[in-house]
Amino acid sequence: MEKVFSATIVDRKEVAKDAYEAVFELDCENFDFTPGQYIWVVLPELKYPDDRGNRRAFSIVSSSKDKKNQIRCVFRKSGSGFKQTLIEMPIGSAVRIDGPFGFCTLPQEEAVPAVFLVGGVGIASVFTMVSYATMHKSSRQMILIYANSNPERTVYLDELKDLQRENKNLILVPHVGDLTPELIFNNTRGMVNPIWYIFGPEAMVLGVGEMLARNNIQLDKIETEEFRIVNTTFYKENREAIKTSDNFKKALDNAFNHIIVTDPEGVIVYANHGAEIITGYSIKEMLGNTPRLWGGLMTADFYSSLWKTIKKDLKVFEGEFMNRKKSGVIYFARSKISPFFNPKNNNLIGFVGAEEDITKEKEMEKLRTDFLSLASHQLRTPLSGTKWLIETLNQNILGPVTKKQKEYLDQIYQINERMIKLVFDMLNVLSLESSGAAARKEEVSMLRLYDEVTLMMEPAAKSKEVTLRNALRDHKEITIDTDIQMLRNILECFVSNAINYSSSGQEVVLDAEEEEAASIFSVRDSGIGIPREEQKLIFGRFYRASNAKMFKPEGTGLGLYIASMLTEKIGGEVSFESEEGKGSTFYLRIPKTVEKIA
Ligand code: ADP
Repeated sequence: MEKVFSATIVDRKEVAKDAYEAVFELDCENFDFTPGQYIWVVLPELKYPDDRGNRRAFSIVSSSKDKKNQIRCVFRKSGSGFKQTLIEMPIGSAVRIDGPFGFCTLPQEEAVPAVFLVGGVGIASVFTMVSYATMHKSSRQMILIYANSNPERTVYLDELKDLQRENKNLILVPHVGDLTPELIFNNTRGMVNPIWYIFGPEAMVLGVGEMLARNNIQLDKIETEEFRIVNTTFYKENREAIKTSDNFKKALDNAFNHIIVTDPEGVIVYANHGAEIITGYSIKEMLGNTPRLWGGLMTADFYSSLWKTIKKDLKVFEGEFMNRKKSGVIYFARSKISPFFNPKNNNLIGFVGAEEDITKEKEMEKLRTDFLSLASHQLRTPLSGTKWLIETLNQNILGPVTKKQKEYLDQIYQINERMIKLVFDMLNVLSLESSGAAARKEEVSMLRLYDEVTLMMEPAAKSKEVTLRNALRDHKEITIDTDIQMLRNILECFVSNAINYSSSGQEVVLDAEEEEAASIFSVRDSGIGIPREEQKLIFGRFYRASNAKMFKPEGTGLGLYIASMLTEKIGGEVSFESEEGKGSTFYLRIPKTVEKIA
């Protein structure tokens, strides 16, 4: 979360020749950031003029040993008015810190190795990443090649050496001089598919980036903080080559997608190789013909709506077609057909059609629905049967049940119930993912719906000695237009979680707020909360936070995933706020005018 903080300078020192470190203390308990991010430092006034103004971005330097509300920044004295002011400001002076910002961070997956190519004070972000990885005993393989023009200018070398001693997965390669391809590739030979991070002065970052690109390192594997490698000559040359030669046409000719161009009457004037593959007709056969060659299987209404869209309304048409290949085989295609115009007089001169074969997707979809209907019967029936049998045994109908036997029966019953819930949740997911259920709209009284939900969840709450409160009773009524069943399921998921992750004596509150453009429904608890590092994962399929697993071992990790899919269907948004040990509030925001309801 990006924020604005008041801060004071609490320390400042020269850490290498002409390199200064400033330590800022922020007016918060715990400054939360991801290693690799940066902040803006805003000075109240500049003692020396500076064209770039009174704010500057700095990478966050922090080690696991630093105080939680302090951050360090390191910078090279450059003669700029900003930096000179910062060097001379008395300790205790106030500054403003905005942040954290930036996405140049390590990937979640620890199996992905990282190569850091660093020049000079570019070490700031890397130092933080490496230090946190060491503290968290990360298994990530990391190589840090750290170049400086002379040893006196090297910052944090001792601390980095300490980290290397502590972390067997970290290799440190200090280097005096430029980063050459030999130096880089000789040292990284053992790394499998790493992410390459480049930090340092602009010229160095772009130079090294371009060198990696020329050595076939894909651009999506190269991370830099702010300088864009796509702007280097290498990529400019590439783009020019596409634009200025007939490479451009060659690219289209050989593209795998089916692309055709027609005149305003639909007569094909261009077709590419992809169109040959998909339809089975040769380019020669297609030219001069119309797409009826492989089309014509849809209803007359479908084609008239297509023509109206592209020719009368002059808009893009998107749709799924059933077509026939030259061989007679039927295939399904997703197409986009766009009109295009003469730039001189704006007259319609033709259409471009791009088609993608989705036959496989359709087959998979059918398999999935077949599986769904099969599974819902085959799995549910024996589970309901078991439930019934246990209930019968428990009623002593077949003779008295001993205390020990009853204990076992209760356990079997619970396991069976868990199985029923899991099957139900999984089928729900499958059906939602195959876009099965569509949302319907009706007017919903939220006061009533909250009452229904609390009544429904009351037994679960009682058994945990948790109180449920419908706070809407104290407000005015809210009504919204939405799918009541989906909304009920989302709220039940929130409330059920709130109960599950609360302790005896705590309260769960259902509340709502109205904004001009949306209604926001919330379920608040004071339970175990969600650890900060795991917060971004909890809407994922089967994900359960570590504290939740300990607090309540059983659970499917599917509830919130289903809730988020249902929310998407009704055109809403889910979010939450949570602090570990203090509680959580889950929000459902429904805009007042939902344009598209799935
Ligand atoms: P389940 O509750 O079956 O584990 P969910 O998908 O409903 O699955 O929730 C996923 C995870 O999100 C939970 O395991 C838990 O870690 C976390 N979570 C959800 N709601 C809460 C809450 N109210 N308080 C604390 N943690 C929660």
